[in-house]
Amino acid sequence: MSNPYLLLTPGPLSTTSTVKEAMLKDWCTWDHEYKAIVEQIRLQLLEVGCASKEHYTALFMQGSGTFGIEATIGSVIPSNGKLLILQNGAYGKRIEEIANVLKIPHLSLVFEANTQVDPQAVERKLVEDKAITHVAMVHCETTTGILNPLEAVMDVIKRNNRIAIIDAMSSFGGIPIEVEQLQIDFIISSANKCIQGVPGFSFILCKRDELIKCKGKARSLSLDLYDQWETMEKDAGKWRFTSPTHVVHAFAQALKELDEEGGVEARHARYRTNQQIVVEELTQAGFTAYLPRELQSPFITTFLYPTHIPFAFEHFYNFLKSAGFVIYPGKLTDANVFRIGNIGDVHAKDMERLSEQILRYVGVTKYEN
Ligand SMILES: *Cc1c(COP(=O)(O)O)cnc(C)c1O
Repeated sequence: MSNPYLLLTPGPLSTTSTVKEAMLKDWCTWDHEYKAIVEQIRLQLLEVGCASKEHYTALFMQGSGTFGIEATIGSVIPSNGKLLILQNGAYGKRIEEIANVLKIPHLSLVFEANTQVDPQAVERKLVEDKAITHVAMVHCETTTGILNPLEAVMDVIKRNNRIAIIDAMSSFGGIPIEVEQLQIDFIISSANKCIQGVPGFSFILCKRDELIKCKGKARSLSLDLYDQWETMEKDAGKWRFTSPTHVVHAFAQALKELDEEGGVEARHARYRTNQQIVVEELTQAGFTAYLPRELQSPFITTFLYPTHIPFAFEHFYNFLKSAGFVIYPGKLTDANVFRIGNIGDVHAKDMERLSEQILRYVGVTKYEN
């Protein structure tokens, strides 16, 4: 069975048929065979993040990526803690919304959507406000596709002895992240992004010492990071409540395929190539990327609505959909933009085909120039 279109969205994304086939069996959540798979993927995730099992541990949370973020924010910040949220897009803003709902003391450092988080500004804030205990940042802000300077920000957070919570939803597995070397305390991603599984759970890599301190601190029963982990540890791979068994199987297959592809480095190279093709070809077709090249991540690119042709997003979207590609609307309040994701089971030839269709849309072919 083939799909009617390729998803050029940052999750859910196009998955391989083998990942989808892994969901064709029904599994018991507490059977040892199933739990062994859970244990195995927990270890594999530590490898993907270059973290030792001595100092780090991986756990899962049912639900989409936001559930993993909310579980982490709600479980790790003590009642006398204070969270600094670094924002340059909608996902950073979402962390602020979570802190608001959970009534967690917080403040935000907000940067323009087309500007990276500035590590020096973060340092000034940490020096100035000693009450801050935790810092949260989005690695790749999917709103625009901007990649924030993770290494430099982690350096500031650690030199100032704070706890780091990183939303690496759209980057983990698609770009090398040295979780242990950077001393990231909590890093969150989900099944349906760069690992190329299907939606259904998020996962969190946690520094063991910090996770242990979270016992009894959660502001929610089901979104309790420590409790979930404790059950997974004690009962070797058991989730507290019904686990998404089919999704877990698809995920195990996706991790196998990540390895077969050559690991994170190889996947990163493929995504980079995909993204470069999109930017080059669309630029040739008269489109302008919202961000300068050096700030673009290899996952998703934002383009301004073109002015050289009459343009209505709906029309463009429908044209591309009937040609076999689903793109992503924009999410900026101050600019009219659309986005093209290039993660998932998509390859250079798909990006070339997309570009041809876009050129066709614009009414010129590459060969005419
Ligand atoms: C996808 C994504 C999320 C989570 O979104 P869900 O819709 O809950 O899966 C969070 N942060 C970033 C940066 C994302 O790209």
